Amino acid sequence: MRLKDKTAFITGGNSGIGLATAKLFVAEGAKVTITGRNKETLAAAAKELGPNGLAVEADINDVAATEKAIAQAVEKFGKLDIVFANAGIPGNTPVGGTTLAAFEQVIRTNLTAVFFTVQAASPHLNDGASIILNGSVISVLGNPGYAAYAASKAGVRGMARVIASELSPRGIRVNVVAPGAIRTPIWKGAAPTEQAFAVLENRIGKSTPLGRMGEADHIAKTVLFLASDDSAHVTSAEIFVDGGATGAP
Ligand code: NDP
Repeated sequence: MRLKDKTAFITGGNSGIGLATAKLFVAEGAKVTITGRNKETLAAAAKELGPNGLAVEADINDVAATEKAIAQAVEKFGKLDIVFANAGIPGNTPVGGTTLAAFEQVIRTNLTAVFFTVQAASPHLNDGASIILNGSVISVLGNPGYAAYAASKAGVRGMARVIASELSPRGIRVNVVAPGAIRTPIWKGAAPTEQAFAVLENRIGKSTPLGRMGEADHIAKTVLFLASDDSAHVTSAEIFVDGGATGAP
């Protein structure tokens, strides 16, 4: 029970990495509020989390909706000990094919909304709280097609360090978890069929020293570490959970 009596707020907690983390947090004793846009997956997630979970429909690009969701979380479970700013969207178009609208949507969702989630949560955080932002190996790998996505996730890293400095007087820690390729619904657009997914998985396995795609639980367990007192002296850090992809020759 590493999170006994702790309260957590997770954006994008109705799918993939966010949902795996929410379930692990509840299993570790936390009370967890999740947000997302999809009513069906939010309802399914709420069922899975049980009485120690709260699911709130909120678009992270709508700052007022995020503030409202945080207010609901605080009203139900009390002030926050953990924030996992996890929600994000993919973006994969070559430089020449990227429109201004598409570029701005990725930055808005993956970077701007992360900042305003932290800003909205900040007055509701207990001293000693832990904030975890979801980054990506793409911020350092230079994979073709990912300019906007890489910029958004590199921005998350820079922003985390500043926020860590600003909140350190309250004992609040801020860290980034940077996943490699993880099996979640985010890949549906890039690999919509089982066959396309198998090809993708094979390609990822070959470029990853551990030889496989990661699972959402791999990230959830690292987020648990960053959320808990086990990482009491870790702040302003970024942990790559990528099977060695960023170290591959
Ligand atoms: P999923 O597609 O499974 O989950 C994405 C989550 O983000 C969903 O819960 C979705 O909710 C939510 N979300 C997206 N846009 C919004 C929005 N505007 N408002 C509210 N919620 C939103 O993907 P993952 O679990 O893989 O992704 C989670 C994070 O992990 C992202 O930040 C992603 O960039 C990062 N990541 C993932 C990697 C991977 O390989 N899977 C690799 C590196 C980083 P809804 O469905 O309701 O819109």
